Amino acid sequence: MQKLVWDSVGNLNSQEYTCGYCGSSIASEKGWYGHRQGYNNIFATIYICHKCGRPTLIDETENGKQTPGVVFGNTVSDIPEKTVGDLYSEARKCTGAGSYTASVLCCRKLLMHVAVSKGAKVGESFVSYVEYLANKNYIPPDAKDWVDHIRKKSNEANHEISIMGKDDAEELISFIEMLLKVIYEFPAAIKKKLTPPSNPT
Ligand SMILES: [Zn+2]
Repeated sequence: MQKLVWDSVGNLNSQEYTCGYCGSSIASEKGWYGHRQGYNNIFATIYICHKCGRPTLIDETENGKQTPGVVFGNTVSDIPEKTVGDLYSEARKCTGAGSYTASVLCCRKLLMHVAVSKGAKVGESFVSYVEYLANKNYIPPDAKDWVDHIRKKSNEANHEISIMGKDDAEELISFIEMLLKVIYEFPAAIKKKLTPPSNPT
């Protein structure tokens, strides 16, 4: 992410927050105070992240609500397929916007896609894909309680539209983060270590 630099930035009282764009925990004292016409009170503040330069609104008229919100989960590197990386990122961004049902739907789609890319049949149920990944040992043995948990959750919501909450979305993102790291990031990291330098001197 290329850092942005803004014109005419003011000095503010320092505010600690987690940047919804780059995920850094920062204290910013740069940005702008927002007033209402005819009032001197501060109604909202825009803070600039000193790491990525992106603006965050803290709105006092909505109990200090932060926009964009904090995105749940961590980045995973070395995902070979752009669609998988994009969908994971989209699932995380949904949590920052409070769109938890959308996040869960993204996560499920993503899990199905990963299972099919690892040889599962197309057109099966979501739970069967989770079980497929467990049976093929992509899910570590000590994490297999997750499979039961996800199966139970998914049955609850199978044939009806249910609104998902923060916990549902965050659980599924944690699970997918673990899975993507096991399948893509860790194997790529060791491959890089074992690959001899291309130009030894
Ligand atoms: Zn930032």
